[in-house]
Amino acid sequence: MTKKQKVVAADAKSGVEVPPPLFTAEVKKLFVEINGGMKVNAWVDSMRASSPTSRRREVSRDRLPPALEVFDEITNASKGKQIVMFLDYDGTLSPIVDDPDRAYMSDAMRATVRKLAGFFPTAIVSGRCRDKVYNFVKLAELYYAGSHGMDIRGPCTGSKNKKSSPSVLCQPASEYLPMIDEVYGILMEKTQSTAGAKVENNKFCLSVHFRCVDEKKWSELAGIVKSVLKNYPKLRLTQGRKVLEIRPTIKWDKGKALEFLLESLGYANCTDVFPIYIGDDRTDEDAFKVLRERDQGFGILVSKIPRDTNASYSLQEPSEVMVFLQRLVDWKERTLVDYERESLRSLKKQKVWKDQNYNGNCVCI
Ligand SMILES: [Mg+2]
Repeated sequence: MTKKQKVVAADAKSGVEVPPPLFTAEVKKLFVEINGGMKVNAWVDSMRASSPTSRRREVSRDRLPPALEVFDEITNASKGKQIVMFLDYDGTLSPIVDDPDRAYMSDAMRATVRKLAGFFPTAIVSGRCRDKVYNFVKLAELYYAGSHGMDIRGPCTGSKNKKSSPSVLCQPASEYLPMIDEVYGILMEKTQSTAGAKVENNKFCLSVHFRCVDEKKWSELAGIVKSVLKNYPKLRLTQGRKVLEIRPTIKWDKGKALEFLLESLGYANCTDVFPIYIGDDRTDEDAFKVLRERDQGFGILVSKIPRDTNASYSLQEPSEVMVFLQRLVDWKERTLVDYERESLRSLKKQKVWKDQNYNGNCVCI
């Protein structure tokens, strides 16, 4: 499969190609309408489509090549280039859980990401508030892009005992802070009557989680959120996995954050950089798309469900993400050991050559 190919989903039983189940033309149309005069019922259908709960959706993995099966192909493509890692958090490093405040990553995953960051510049890119995602990950050496990339900070530098404060690199939506806080207050109050609804303040954006809301109440919740946003045309509504996202209308997303970070790392116009972005959410598609457009690196979609995507490879769940990251670490370690061995062999050859050509007069190298 070439990088430019799009994924076409297939019916699990018949194998016959069918339109991708999550991003059908109808759903795409609904997304466009979210910011306009979309009817609540249509919106609920869209919520259902983006938040599959029934077993029938989990029919098979999509036709993206599984990243673990084509690992050598991936590392071969990166040869001679600097890998830069971009990792979504929820559903990528941590499992999706009912309570978003308890989406902890495992110690094993943390240890793997720490080793990864020892070899490659690594950034966490999340829709969450930057501080909150940092408190989950707890690794000072990483870059963090919170609020869908609208709040980016660099790593803490210095010794283990005396780390510097992280530098804030980018906050393109600062002027929206008072408005976001205001809408957060209103939504907190208005969603009180919807059992299971949870409003999360992500600093530069808001999330309304409906994972624990009875599906019969989705319509009511959609109506509440939509009626509040009617008075805030500078905010827009998008959807993630069982979550409604409220964001400023500025043209900034995870793809822009990826480009900004590459530029900050000095790779703006380089051909020898190889970014790898791993994510599970629709919002990660912006980053996958940027990689396709740049024709650099690739995206890896974390999903068990067939869907239309700009990613190039797939992993099924966070446990597979951890295996993939560990294999990258192992591969890099082996590469460095091989390089050292080869360098030593080369130096020894040079020494023998000089010894012979200088008639036994040893030349120190
Ligand atoms: Mg995610």
